[in-house]
Amino acid sequence: MRLLLLAPPGAGKGTQGERLAAWSGAHHIAAGDLLRAEAGAGSLLGREIAAYQARGDLVPDRIVLDVLTPAVVEAAARGGYVLDGFPRTLPQATAAAELAARLGVGLQAAVYLHAPEAVLTRRLLDRAGLGRRADDRAEVIRHRLEVYAEATAPLVAYYTERGILVAVDADQSPDSVTAAIQAGLSALPLTGLRNLG
Ligand code: ADP
Repeated sequence: MRLLLLAPPGAGKGTQGERLAAWSGAHHIAAGDLLRAEAGAGSLLGREIAAYQARGDLVPDRIVLDVLTPAVVEAAARGGYVLDGFPRTLPQATAAAELAARLGVGLQAAVYLHAPEAVLTRRLLDRAGLGRRADDRAEVIRHRLEVYAEATAPLVAYYTERGILVAVDADQSPDSVTAAIQAGLSALPLTGLRNLG
């Protein structure tokens, strides 16, 4: 299976991405995790990435594509992928479409998880209490939600136009969200021949 998860921060992309990968046998590719790993490596590029992430700004498309492309190419060749957090801008979506066309393996579904902003903010602030991520702070959370609305939300229309959007209400228990995604996917004609573009 080849699908992507499109969702604002706090919607549960990471949790659902892992579950969908386990369910379908595809590889879970979490853009934020791959970028955080690169940041943690301490290279010059890593320090640049860390600065964008700490501010809640998007990492520039060119860097994201350099980091993500090898993982996507490898997963496409071995059982498919669940992309979590990539693409996140229209230029990334068109680059991903070109890559998919070149590899001859198009995206089959774009799963859109949505929830009211108050729910997202509460979840992120709860997680902030655990202190695991530098960008889980009130002012950075607000900024990440703004960046999502501006740069990423337009992808909902992009994938709707391509007939592969599966919209799911993420304001329910994780199990209910998983079940709703699976139901939505089984209603789609997963031809595997459809390209991202
Ligand atoms: P969340 O969705 O909760 O913000 P992620 O781990 O997916 O968490 O992303 C964390 C940060 O990593 C983002 O705020 C951004 O700085 C960077 N990032 C992740 N994916 C992308 C992407 N596709 N393009 C640009 N930046 C990204």
